[in-house]
Amino acid sequence: MDAPKKLLKKYWGYDSFRPLQEEIIESVMQGHDTLALLPTGGGKSLCYQLPALMREGICLVVSPLIALMKDQVQHLNDRHLKAACVVSGMSGEESTGVLLSAINGGLKFLYVSPERLRQQKFIEHFRKMKVGLIAVDEAHCISQWGYDFRPPYLQIADIRIYHPEAPLIALTATATPVVADDICLHLQMKDCRRFQSSFIRPNLAYMVLHDSDKSQRLLRIVRRVEGSGIVYVRNRRATQTLARFLEASGVSSTFYHAGLDATERDQRQSAWMNGRCQVMVATNAFGMGIDKADVRFVVHMDIPDSLEAYFQEAGRAGRDGQRAYAVLICDSSDIERLSRDFAIDYPELKQVRNVYRALCNYYRVPVGGGADSQFDFDIEKICFNYNFTAREFYGACRILEREGLISIPEQEDAYSTVYIPVTRNELYRFQINHQRLGDMLQVVIRTYPGLMECAVSIDERKIASKCYSSPAEVVNMLQQLHEMHIIHYRPSSHGPQLYFLTERVDERLIYLSEQNYAQLKSAAQQRMKSIVDYVSDDSRCRSRQLVAYFGEQSTTDCGMCDVCLKSKSHLGDKESAIEKILQKSPMGARQLVQLLTDEGYVDVGDTLREMIDRGELLLDGNAQLHLAF
Ligand code: ADP
Ligand code: MG
Repeated sequence: MDAPKKLLKKYWGYDSFRPLQEEIIESVMQGHDTLALLPTGGGKSLCYQLPALMREGICLVVSPLIALMKDQVQHLNDRHLKAACVVSGMSGEESTGVLLSAINGGLKFLYVSPERLRQQKFIEHFRKMKVGLIAVDEAHCISQWGYDFRPPYLQIADIRIYHPEAPLIALTATATPVVADDICLHLQMKDCRRFQSSFIRPNLAYMVLHDSDKSQRLLRIVRRVEGSGIVYVRNRRATQTLARFLEASGVSSTFYHAGLDATERDQRQSAWMNGRCQVMVATNAFGMGIDKADVRFVVHMDIPDSLEAYFQEAGRAGRDGQRAYAVLICDSSDIERLSRDFAIDYPELKQVRNVYRALCNYYRVPVGGGADSQFDFDIEKICFNYNFTAREFYGACRILEREGLISIPEQEDAYSTVYIPVTRNELYRFQINHQRLGDMLQVVIRTYPGLMECAVSIDERKIASKCYSSPAEVVNMLQQLHEMHIIHYRPSSHGPQLYFLTERVDERLIYLSEQNYAQLKSAAQQRMKSIVDYVSDDSRCRSRQLVAYFGEQSTTDCGMCDVCLKSKSHLGDKESAIEKILQKSPMGARQLVQLLTDEGYVDVGDTLREMIDRGELLLDGNAQLHLAF
């Protein structure tokens, strides 16, 4: 057995490689800069982890999300491989410790965020390390034409000068041809070897359905397609209402969004993973790193921002290779809403600068200072003091975060949570007898709907300002309520935190030049147009439209998307298809429906019923269908 296969077996316990893994590993072993384009779940991590084991020195991995880094570090540690990450929120001592052990050979894998690469302290340590390989995960983040552009990714190439001999491998699941070129360019990849697997998913039927009664339509889909599914909605509250609607209609469902606390998210996720719940209704916070093979359908109740995002999310269906459905339900107001949201996500540049200045002034961060500093995130107060609406403030903060200047709380663990386990009656009785606590509780309930169903993140300062009291007093009252078993209160160790990742930059705002921002915005607009075109074009096979977007020419129609089916049903041959099968031999209705549905026919059951009603088909005593004549 050759060396890579042995390592694959030894550390991961697998017997064979997935498509292209071996070729990619081979290329890295030969010291080539390598670009690996494999679908989500295609096994990209192995493509850098395995060659890293065969090369001397450490493997530096650049990854955009703390959660992804922690997952991978855990995964490697479970296999007794030495890995660690340096993330914001660690103390100076902690991060120094990790960097030193990377220098002393105590680590094989070092995970960092791209922002880190800019810091002097990191660079000084990095130069002293023995580096065998640099891996850039989610490499599409480097391109402003990509759907998740992160300017700090542009710094990655700068650190290559310290270890010019170390090859670089870039990995992504979604790159259009322009984005792939951008990756090679900005990572200064020399003589880059590209490996790309096909974007065609032969078992996935893409459907775009125009329907104004979305929930009824969803219900019909869920009832018809058996098995596990994911339903994506845009906002957190809708996850809950829709899951409840499905439950009330007899479909076991759960919901998931980033506002739930970590334990709750885990519980809901595993209920769905192990099949206790059929349907997961979620925001796009759900799915990253989910490894469930038998997902039969993914339904989108709203249009996502880009085809890249859609392809990623829809692609979670049918990993096992069995027939699965990716359905996007939209109505006439959706496209309008998309452009409304766009205006909020991409505010005027002036506004972004104003927000940055306001943040720096509010926290008294001087120009040239403040790097790596951390503050309580007083959203309400800042908005009030500087006259921003919360939505525009958030929009601007997200741009600043993407620019690598600040980090705002994404992990909702940073917040306290409250859950009310008692019934409404008990609550009412309590409120009558405890006026002061009861009044405050009323404010909490009004501010955070949904507390009676599950634990919800809260901000004590917000409550304090609403009931004219101090945060400390609110904490105190919540604790009393907890002790009286009226609520479950889990205080956070500290409130939501804002980090300044770099020292305060002068108005220059390095990466936020007029021109860069205008380009960023127009790229986003282009992506929005692409998905609008996708939902509007009902003349070209969906699968072909999708893969063409990723630069792949497909010569055959998929034969099972809504467009292909429509042209099939124009032939009007469903009934003769049924007759043709039954001429050969009688068959149970269920099996017949399955057979024809797999061939791409829709509503076969309805047609059978009509044919029975008309007397063209007969049901015998063994529940087999026959032709009547
Ligand atoms: P992605 O391409 O999305 O980054 P991952 O690297 O996270 O995918 O891998 C997805 C899953 O596939 C993981 O559970 C991983 O262990 C598994 N996997 C990777 N390579 C193989 C293989 N050769 N055989 C079987 N499973 C594999
Ligand atoms: Mg990955």
